[in-house]
Amino acid sequence: MTKNILNKCPVCDCESIHIRSLSQQNIMSELEDYFAEKPPEKIEIIDYEIQQCKNCSLEYSFPLEAGSQSFYQWVTTRAGYYPTSRWEWFAVIEQIDKRERQNSISILDVGCGGGNFLEIAKKLSNTRIVGLDTTPESVQQCQTRGFEVYCETIESFSNKFSSEKFNYILSFHCLEHISQPKQFIESMLSVLKPMGSIFISTPYSPMSVESDWFDILNHPPHHLLRWNKKSYEELADQLGCEIKFYMPQANSVMARTANNFSLSKFGKNQTVSKFKLFQEIIKNPTLFLNIFFDQLKRDRVNKTIAADIVLVELKLF
Ligand SMILES: [Zn+2]
Repeated sequence: MTKNILNKCPVCDCESIHIRSLSQQNIMSELEDYFAEKPPEKIEIIDYEIQQCKNCSLEYSFPLEAGSQSFYQWVTTRAGYYPTSRWEWFAVIEQIDKRERQNSISILDVGCGGGNFLEIAKKLSNTRIVGLDTTPESVQQCQTRGFEVYCETIESFSNKFSSEKFNYILSFHCLEHISQPKQFIESMLSVLKPMGSIFISTPYSPMSVESDWFDILNHPPHHLLRWNKKSYEELADQLGCEIKFYMPQANSVMARTANNFSLSKFGKNQTVSKFKLFQEIIKNPTLFLNIFFDQLKRDRVNKTIAADIVLVELKLF
């Protein structure tokens, strides 16, 4: 069913098309499947529509309303929610290390959580690192670990401390949760030193599994925005920035096909032996081949197959 919803893309203000409805009921049952556990009734979920911008192809939720506090209180306490390591943390440190050597520099980490990245970034010498987070418990945790962290949004921080300027501003896995992405980056730009860089990471959407399996954690109420190459390029254009993409190596086409086939047949929470998977492929060769050919068509970034995570660097022209 096509719905006419009057709303404009939060990046380029162009018209969008409706691509999916996600009712409160759908969300609750997808969350139950994902975590193999019934979410508490009190987590106040609302109905969403998913739109796709006709111009920049950003997928975004309507309304652009983040999950409730009770939803986040629940989801953030599920096992594995906060990773202890991310590919892009090391990719950013490598970039900074390579460029700065012994220079004295400053870094701002927006949405630093409990400080796992700050801990890794300690290895950079001559570096002042400041973190921001809006969860008081995370800020407290960082301060106990000895980090300079404030309980502020980037918008409130940049208003209060407009004279503070940083060489690098980092934000890992925040931009997909934000309803006003341009304002978010503009606030970062206002506290960035001339010639400084912003590094941002998000999922690369749709992720490779999403053609065959629905990932509720890459949809609202968790993720409001679903980024790809075109939507990031439009964002950079709107902000007058140049953009560079970094990605880990994507899994091979066979690995992605086998993984997606397994997810579509057995879901996320079953352990499937290679033998069982092979038996199932023999029974459904057409499905396997369809997935394989779909994966061959996956987006390319920097002339290679897109991974599921993207790190972008923004610099003012
Ligand atoms: Zn757009």
